[in-house]
Amino acid sequence: MSNEKALVIFSGGQDSTTCLLQAIEQYGAAQVEAITFYYGQRHAVELERARWIAQDLQIRQTELDLSLMQHITHNALMDSQAEIKTADNGLPTTFVDGRNALFLLYAAIYAKSQGIRHIITGVCETDFSGYPDCRDVFVKSMNVTLNLAMDYAFQIHTPLMYLSKAQTWALADQLGRLNYVREHTHTCYQGVVGGCGSCPSCVLREKGLAEYLAGRQAGAQ
Ligand code: ZN
Repeated sequence: MSNEKALVIFSGGQDSTTCLLQAIEQYGAAQVEAITFYYGQRHAVELERARWIAQDLQIRQTELDLSLMQHITHNALMDSQAEIKTADNGLPTTFVDGRNALFLLYAAIYAKSQGIRHIITGVCETDFSGYPDCRDVFVKSMNVTLNLAMDYAFQIHTPLMYLSKAQTWALADQLGRLNYVREHTHTCYQGVVGGCGSCPSCVLREKGLAEYLAGRQAGAQ
């Protein structure tokens, strides 16, 4: 186990919770911190979940308010009246311009202040809807920028980058935490506790879980 510290960008969803559990395994709970951003998401339930999980896992959590985003950009993640669909530009209307760049910047500023080099984020370019700031090339470029900006050797880790949703469930299972992630994480765009079952986020999550469980069952036979 490494004796270095790690900071996980943590929303309380399936992906970042899996990253948090993996970081605890790799670095030890005492060496791991979480940072959670509020940016005017439609639903507070996500933040409550994040708080609950961090407390349950005894992880120090910092919350940062980035709700000023609402004054300068518009999208369906932050506006409960807007429709969730694929826009004419090919991007889902839930895409938030600049979100991951901001998250990584604030995470890095905080991490450096705590002597933390390792920053972990659950972004993933495999299954997802083509968010440009979830691409590996963006994260690598941001890593270089942050190191130059603060003259510090940050290392950004993206353990889920090339995993499908089914493989992310498999990772939770390897960590012995499949049911924990299933029961306690929140991913629904509509903010329905337990999932609405029909928004793109719920569909992706349930499809991945069904795929993984079917594969696991087939493997066991
Ligand atoms: Zn949903």
